[in-house]
Amino acid sequence: MGTIFHIELYATDDAYASKAAEAAFARAEELEQIMSDYREDSELMRLAREGARAPFPVSDDLYDVLAKSIRISGLSHGAFDVTIGPLVALWREARTTGRFPDSSDLAKAKALVDYRNLELDPVHHSVFLKHSGMKLDLGAIGKGYAADKMLALLQSRGLRLAMVVAGGEVAIGAPPPGEAGWKVAIDTADTQAGGVPCTLVLHDAAISTSGDSKQFVEINGKRYSHVIDPHTGVALEGMASTTVFARDASITDALGTALSVLPVAEGIRLAESLPGVAVYMVRRAENGWKRYSSRGFPGSCLGRN
Ligand code: ADP
Ligand code: MG
Repeated sequence: MGTIFHIELYATDDAYASKAAEAAFARAEELEQIMSDYREDSELMRLAREGARAPFPVSDDLYDVLAKSIRISGLSHGAFDVTIGPLVALWREARTTGRFPDSSDLAKAKALVDYRNLELDPVHHSVFLKHSGMKLDLGAIGKGYAADKMLALLQSRGLRLAMVVAGGEVAIGAPPPGEAGWKVAIDTADTQAGGVPCTLVLHDAAISTSGDSKQFVEINGKRYSHVIDPHTGVALEGMASTTVFARDASITDALGTALSVLPVAEGIRLAESLPGVAVYMVRRAENGWKRYSSRGFPGSCLGRN
């Protein structure tokens, strides 16, 4: 998944805690083997090769993460789209060559991107790709999904005072002893440029920040993000970050990407329509930064320098 997983937990028995943490890391490894688009033998890649010929039976995890993906695609009207693979391949190439993708290549790739062409069969637990050449990419939901599953494993072993961090995705359990919650500093676009970070105190929740300033390509003086607008096929421009708060990290991860693509007002409306979901966005303006927060965002990140 191209990230480092980090676990923090409180326990009374050191050996028991270490064993549980090891099992959680093994769970991440198992999910990597299922969801990777770098490993040719991952279940996701086998699905891409065979799933356009006939419905392809999948594991519970792959089914679950794809079902969650389709749900977020529907809610965001395709701003998040797990069938984005062909466009991701083009923009990965652009990152190495430093050249804008060819327009006919872009059109061809874009024609293969549409989550409505991904069919899940709940009875046979299978997945069908309606067009050959379709490619799935779990880059915007897999890390959050894995963080959720790792936290759930720790909790199932009685270790509830725990937190799992995977890059910008954080899955949080019960608070540390005697504390109101876990302190999470948010790495927003303005703090990356030297501002004061906003710190939240959270428990039994998840939070993700999308908009990694480290992953971009510069073409003709413009800076393109690794997040792509599925409707135009073009990578997002400009400096921005989107922080989503919700119950599960798979949701905050995917919604973080969706709300990066959608216009600010539409993103805030979507967050406010979903129970337990809130968003905080930072966007680069002419001179300085603009910050937006939906109703229910925990603590106040607005009004900082
Ligand atoms: P980060 O890795 O910084 O947390 P995201 O969670 O937003 O960022 O995921 C970005 C990755 O998701 C990209 O590298 C790509 O693989 C994939 N992706 C890019 N655009 C989209 C999109 N519109 N919908 C779904 N996945 C996307
Ligand atoms: Mg994401």
